[in-house]
Amino acid sequence: MNRTDMWRRIEAHTQAWDMIVVGGGATGVGVAIDAAARGYDVLLLEQSDFGKGTSSRSTKLAHGGVRYLEQGNIGLVMEALKERGLLLQNAPHIVHDLAFVVPNYDWWEAPFYGLGLKLYQLLAGKYGFGVSRILSKEETLEHLPTLKTEGLRGGAVYYDGQFDDARLLIHMVATAFEQGATLLNYVAVTGLTKDAQGFVNGVGARDVETGNDFRATAKVVVNATGAFSDLLRLKAEPSATAMIVPSQGIHLVFDSSFLQGESAVMVPHTSDGRVLFAIPWHGHTLVGTTDTPIAAATIEPVALELEIEFILATARQYLTKAPTREDVLSVFAGIRPLVRATGVATTAALSRDHVIHVDRSGLVTVCGGKWTTYRHMAEDCVDQAATLAQLPDKPCVTHHLRIHGFHEATKELGALAVYGSDAYEVRKLIETDPDLREPLHAALPYLKAEVVWAARHEMARSVEDVLARRTRALFLNARAALAMAPAVADLMALELGWDELARTRQLAAFRDVASNYVLHL
Ligand SMILES: Cc1cc2nc3c(=O)[nH]c(=O)nc-3n(C[C@H](O)[C@H](O)[C@H](O)COP(=O)(O)OP(=O)(O)OC[C@H]3O[C@@H](n4cnc5c(N)ncnc54)[C@H](O)[C@@H]3O)c2cc1C
Repeated sequence: MNRTDMWRRIEAHTQAWDMIVVGGGATGVGVAIDAAARGYDVLLLEQSDFGKGTSSRSTKLAHGGVRYLEQGNIGLVMEALKERGLLLQNAPHIVHDLAFVVPNYDWWEAPFYGLGLKLYQLLAGKYGFGVSRILSKEETLEHLPTLKTEGLRGGAVYYDGQFDDARLLIHMVATAFEQGATLLNYVAVTGLTKDAQGFVNGVGARDVETGNDFRATAKVVVNATGAFSDLLRLKAEPSATAMIVPSQGIHLVFDSSFLQGESAVMVPHTSDGRVLFAIPWHGHTLVGTTDTPIAAATIEPVALELEIEFILATARQYLTKAPTREDVLSVFAGIRPLVRATGVATTAALSRDHVIHVDRSGLVTVCGGKWTTYRHMAEDCVDQAATLAQLPDKPCVTHHLRIHGFHEATKELGALAVYGSDAYEVRKLIETDPDLREPLHAALPYLKAEVVWAARHEMARSVEDVLARRTRALFLNARAALAMAPAVADLMALELGWDELARTRQLAAFRDVASNYVLHL
């Protein structure tokens, strides 16, 4: 999978594509997998890197959403629990189950949460992950040794899924490619073309790397641009009314001493009525999130001081080692592409259901939903897009479609486990060049070989692509990622043929982005 071959495919493609998908996040790549696996001819264009948007910035939970159960949205919970099960079945190398403990401080909490979580478990049916139950105080502390004991009565444990979002996404890109789709990062859709009847029949696009413009025609265009959906809709129809209410959520990352053990904490009601998680992730502690309405989406959102202080203050209420600003290794923000609804007071109360909307111009927009439900969103979207474009009827086949890298015994792969079966290929690189065995930083497990692998086989085009999404260095420890950047740039310069000026520019661009992930004291 590399950009040169993808370009060749586009140049050789003289007819209209069955489908062009705009946006390379979970939603767009999910649509590309589904459509290509049915046998449709698909082109996907992403303006930045795959997953640069929200899809690398989530809480990384494959979950039904206990919170939505409380809101009474049983349909969404059941759909998401089924999808959680399918994700584990189709990508066991990236998704795994995790115990979540709800600590109890009041007498009524044990029966209340115990019952609710039992219902959550039952709704999963045959896709269940583990048996939820009420815990004594001692059992709660066995799960969470660093939980504050003052006033603690016990807890309730339930099971959900956890994954590495950007890693799953790049393996989904590879899956779509294997099914026949053509996918390009760093190509922005700049406009939509229409036929004589005013129906969208293609896109105008720009290769961000060269500045070259080109056009591609399609029987149907799918808008999967997440929080940017309305911008593309406006290109098709200047009078289109906004569908998206962007809402920002942030996470803080600490070292593993703050949350010892292998379980996560779930706080069902923070001081402002939200849910907060503290989760062990890649040997670190991930704490979040917030739900802050914002005026407009940006591609590199920045955490607000209020959000940072809120997470620190809430984490201090629960953890024995009180986290401070000095302890924050990374802070990252993402934007939820929530769908507008009338009569809803806060973004937290807006539904996480997905919507498929067809504009009068025939542009199909798929938005809302969750990472967990990407496959189901894609199935719905392709069903509707195919009908609209009068494509031959073909059934969805993704229920049992294995994601690239599928591997069931990942423990033996050690730090390379998230690569699944690709880990053997990464190891082969090391065998041919033992220098690639060298770690890039003492604080993180990443090896030089992973940079070479990302540039050669995963379409990484920048230092940021490698440090933020092919590895998760920037999300785990921003200062360590900054320290790794020159070595990463050296390796990429060799792979991609950068001259000194290109290398210097890459490093400056990475420093710029990384400054948003370093918490300034
Ligand atoms: C803080 C937070 C925590 C979350 N946690 C979870 C969780 O734990 N579990 C869960 O299931 N869900 C979670 N979600 C929701 C989930 O992350 C999102 O629903 C999902 O990632 C949205 O994916 P997307 O593809 O629709 O959007 P994006 O990932 O934003 O993708 C849209 C893409 O479109 C591209 N694009 C935009 N305009 C153009 C253009 N003109 N041309 C080409 N490309 C373009 C963008 O660059 C972007 O990459 C969370 C969301 C947030 C914000």
